[in-house]
Amino acid sequence: MSSDPPVHVLRLGHRRERDKRITSHLGLTARAFGADNFVLSGEEDPNVLETLESVSERFGGNFEAHYEKKPMGWLRNFVQNDAGDGSPGVAIHLTMYGLPWNETIPEIPTDRPIAIVVGGAKVPGEVFGICQYNISIGNQPHSEVAALAVFLQTWKPNGTHSSNFTGGMTVVPMESGKQILSSEEISE
Ligand code: SAM
Repeated sequence: MSSDPPVHVLRLGHRRERDKRITSHLGLTARAFGADNFVLSGEEDPNVLETLESVSERFGGNFEAHYEKKPMGWLRNFVQNDAGDGSPGVAIHLTMYGLPWNETIPEIPTDRPIAIVVGGAKVPGEVFGICQYNISIGNQPHSEVAALAVFLQTWKPNGTHSSNFTGGMTVVPMESGKQILSSEEISE
């Protein structure tokens, strides 16, 4: 397990039909780039959670995902009371209207759990006030997946090479062809 404070990703406003692929991709990107926990909100969707669970089972690690019916309550509690260890955490909202990420990330405390908040359908205005940081990855509209990847790569530069992925299949990087080692082969 990583000794860094946990990184949570809160996905607001999931729409089951319209967002099924992008929300799965968002969760997979969260996992691959070093987040620990994915919080799905909006319409309930077991398929997204099953996809993430299945990838984590096959490729290893401790990544977890759950559905949250009241995301604003979850976020307020995270920021004001309990980020999982009995003390408040830090929430960062990714939005094209926020401050530049490369100048602002160095100001964020690294000793507390963080929640990265990304929107889908219209983001409730109160999110801007609840989160301690509103951060843009450039001020043009693009994608929550791209915004999350850029943020996490900056926050955890080693996240994609994390030892958190132990216990599952490991892809061996190579110029051409495919090689995957099972967890038994790795521990031999
Ligand atoms: N309102 C649009 C809709 O209903 O289709 C979707 C907005 S956008 C695709 C979804 C999310 O991507 C935003 O809420 C924000 O979290 C993220 N996002 C998009 N562009 C961004 C940027 N330039 N910087 C940071 N985050 C961004």
